[in-house]
Amino acid sequence: MKLIKLIANLGYGSRKQVTAWFRQGLVTDAEGEVLYADDQLGVHAEHADIRFDGEPLDPPAGMVIMLHKPLGVTCSRKDPGRVIYDLMPPRFSLRNPALSTVGRLDRDTSGLLLLTDDGALLHRIISPKAEIAKVYEAELANDLRGDEAAIFAAGTLLLESETTPLAPAELQVLGPRKARLVLTEGRYHQVRRMFAAVGNHVERLQRIAVGGMDMGGLEPGQWRLLGEDEVRRLF
Ligand code: URA
Repeated sequence: MKLIKLIANLGYGSRKQVTAWFRQGLVTDAEGEVLYADDQLGVHAEHADIRFDGEPLDPPAGMVIMLHKPLGVTCSRKDPGRVIYDLMPPRFSLRNPALSTVGRLDRDTSGLLLLTDDGALLHRIISPKAEIAKVYEAELANDLRGDEAAIFAAGTLLLESETTPLAPAELQVLGPRKARLVLTEGRYHQVRRMFAAVGNHVERLQRIAVGGMDMGGLEPGQWRLLGEDEVRRLF
């Protein structure tokens, strides 16, 4: 691949803009030697050695990001309000292949959200067949009744306006109005609708883990790249 295509695909700018930057000598190798638009990736320079205006390039295609989604931002690009893409460099939204969320969290849900530009990986993670645990903590409006864990574990619960019962889910009681719920699927507003189905109401919801990964020390609004070992820990 020519370097001009690589850098345009990473969202740094249009081919026209990127051509101009090459002409200005802004693209160099790690030693500061100027690289050219037609130079080939892997022949004239490796990705890790390329600098744009002195800074290492963004990661190549195949990146996986973990974001601590704050409350009040949406996962949709089209929303007129604050969106998760505002929390990352603007050029991340211009990448080709495009960066997408791995499933979604509601505006009023915080916690661990993954994003990737690897479509095959995205589908592997969200597929119910993969049975990857999504772990939520919910604060509830009413005291738990005591029968919720059995109802959720039975694998027979039918949510309103759906025809397929939910897969079994594990509920751990953390307090009279607090619970941890482990799901292996990701239906629309699933946690809120599950608690509504047992006469309760979710007041606060956070996703704390996906597969073997939790958020570590990420603060709301912070994100970081996952390494290959961490991606493997999702499965
Ligand atoms: N379940 C919900 O109700 N909301 C989310 O954001 C995620 C799971």
